[in-house]
Amino acid sequence: MSKQKVKDIGLGYPPPERVCEDRNCPYHGHLKVRGILLEGVLVSKKMDKAGVILREYLHYDKKYQRYERRRSKVSVYIPPCIDVREGDIVVAAETRPISKTIAFVLVYNKSNPPKKKGGE
Ligand SMILES: [Zn+2]
Repeated sequence: MSKQKVKDIGLGYPPPERVCEDRNCPYHGHLKVRGILLEGVLVSKKMDKAGVILREYLHYDKKYQRYERRRSKVSVYIPPCIDVREGDIVVAAETRPISKTIAFVLVYNKSNPPKKKGGE
């Protein structure tokens, strides 16, 4: 491919600075995102083009009338064009199942956002 188009995935996040040729990339491939968005901390990046994000949230306990902290881990696909490190706060969007445990794709790195053209 000589000139590649960057798709607007419709979530309002700026596309990554780099361009990749991964077919499972929502910006440069054929992957479509739909459904919910998750925000969490990337806690593991040991898999090939995939990682694990940890989400912490509060759940209200009716009987004791207070909140308890809950946490859950979600496996996400990491397209090669998005730079992330463990510890980064990232946003993942729901997509079709990519593998047995992965149905989310990383779309934005809040800790290291892509530099926008034209500034803001
Ligand atoms: Zn890409």
